[in-house]
Amino acid sequence: MQCLQCQTEAEMAPSQLYARCPACKSLFMNVAGNWQLYPVEDSQRNMIEHSLGFSNPAEADTHAA
Ligand SMILES: [Zn+2]
Repeated sequence: MQCLQCQTEAEMAPSQLYARCPACKSLFMNVAGNWQLYPVEDSQRNMIEHSLGFSNPAEADTHAA
């Protein structure tokens, strides 16, 4: 899918029911075939992404010093 916020190609969760935008960090969920924004608080983002099956945050290994 493409991010609904910035049109960047989003990363799919293993379940294919959730997606994460690598650019703006938005999360989306597939509800009966329609993608909807899945609002999360920044303080809980990592935990929620992990629980949905996403790997570590995309930025974690791409900004080495
Ligand atoms: Zn985005």
